[in-house]
Amino acid sequence: MRTFLFFITLILTALSSTSFAATVKKTAVVMGTDFEMTVVVDDVVMGEKAFDAAISEMRRIEEEMSEWIPGSPVSKINKDAGIMPVKVSNELFKVIAAAQEVSRLTEGAFDITWAGTRGLWDFTKGKERVPTDEEVKKTRANVDYRFIELDPDKLTVFLKKRGVAIGLGAIAKGYAVDKAMQAVAALGIKNVILKAGGDMRVQGGDTLDGWKIGIKHPREKGRLIAKLELKDISISTSGDYERFFIKDGVLYHHIIDPSTGYPAKGVMSVTVIAPDTMTSDALSTAVFVLGPIKGMALVKRLKGVEAVIVDSDGRIAASAGVLINRE
Ligand code: ADP
Ligand code: MG
Repeated sequence: MRTFLFFITLILTALSSTSFAATVKKTAVVMGTDFEMTVVVDDVVMGEKAFDAAISEMRRIEEEMSEWIPGSPVSKINKDAGIMPVKVSNELFKVIAAAQEVSRLTEGAFDITWAGTRGLWDFTKGKERVPTDEEVKKTRANVDYRFIELDPDKLTVFLKKRGVAIGLGAIAKGYAVDKAMQAVAALGIKNVILKAGGDMRVQGGDTLDGWKIGIKHPREKGRLIAKLELKDISISTSGDYERFFIKDGVLYHHIIDPSTGYPAKGVMSVTVIAPDTMTSDALSTAVFVLGPIKGMALVKRLKGVEAVIVDSDGRIAASAGVLINRE
């Protein structure tokens, strides 16, 4: 056994001291989701370093931006709703300001104050809960992005009404992926895929054209609705199959339409390609709520943004930059 280990160590050392590129893949659970890193590196130790750097960045941002962690800066904003403005970090301010921009673009289809309704639903297995119409109506009065007041000079966030709360579940993970990628790139690694749940950033590639990425069909296992070669870009998918339950024949999922207070209808999945992951993350959720028609119209207006939408009847639509796989 010892000799065997010795040889393994010898081989690994030999591999790491020569400059043969190796693809290293590592996974972890972070921000409540599956995180996966793929890097092409000259030595395995570099792969470990990249992984540690990415994960610690993701964890740092979770501590800062989760509305579920008591005492996080976002929880503080929620606690002081209707009471006083809260001073935040540059990056939290930036993410909330970006969310507000997407809210304006979508006339409130994307709205981080959806969190005012979050206690009503429970997607935990065995504890599934559908609220009453009365409950939904009551909390919906607290959902409006215009309750958020941002002061860019003082870097403060103020929720103008008691009971209003924000939740960054549709944008913070994308931002975290961008930051994790920066940390990996800072180590001099050029060919990387970082994926956290439905949010992915691809840089460089394992060929000159980039990485081969498939977009999965939301219902049919093994079917790819598009095959792409991507580099230096971000791609996010929002689906009704991510967190959901079925009760009395109705599928309830975690993307809320602020105009009704209920899960958004009309779409099974939306994939958005954008210049950065914060944007692709927010837009995939936004387009999901807007639905196939208004959603695609928005995508066409935005420069550098592409999308594939599968509507609730299984019809697939794509913007001009994406070729649908008809196999
Ligand atoms: P995932 O978390 O599976 O990657 P999304 O990026 O689509 O999926 O984000 C869904 C999450 O966004 C929900 O779990 C919730 O935290 C939040 N959310 C739900 N509805 C909205 C909405 N209308 N606007 C902004 N955020 C929302
Ligand atoms: Mg999203």
